[in-house]
Amino acid sequence: MQECIFCKIISGVIKTDLIYADDHIVAFKDISPQAPVHILIIPKLHISTLNDTSAEHQNLLGHIMLVAKQLANKEGIAESGYRTIMNCNADGEQSVFHIHLHLLGGKRLGGRLVRS
Ligand code: 5GP
Ligand code: ZN
Repeated sequence: MQECIFCKIISGVIKTDLIYADDHIVAFKDISPQAPVHILIIPKLHISTLNDTSAEHQNLLGHIMLVAKQLANKEGIAESGYRTIMNCNADGEQSVFHIHLHLLGGKRLGGRLVRS
């Protein structure tokens, strides 16, 4: 999907330093970090939202979580702790419609997941 900003990062049309890449996923720093460590982990396959996944994506989704764990370790935040988030649609405040897992850490993130 060439109008998708994350597909452009994957294809190299938008130059971005990749923290991690394999046959199925890539990871890079969020352009507007909300914590000292803020990494996005995305599938190379264009999937718009978590709603668009099914059983065929089970391995891919599991792989994304395991790479999140691996990158948390590499970034030195595994023991201090971190948060993983995948936003979906309007109420989830999803702004880029190519699924991505946020990996956030490097400071106390606060207990609130939802703005009051
Ligand atoms: P969402 O709001 O959809 O859950 O998260 C999208 C994230 O993508 C945001 O945190 C935003 O800062 C990040 N983002 C949007 N465009 C770019 C970009 O071109 N490069 C990078 N590295 N991050 C981006
Ligand atoms: Zn895409």
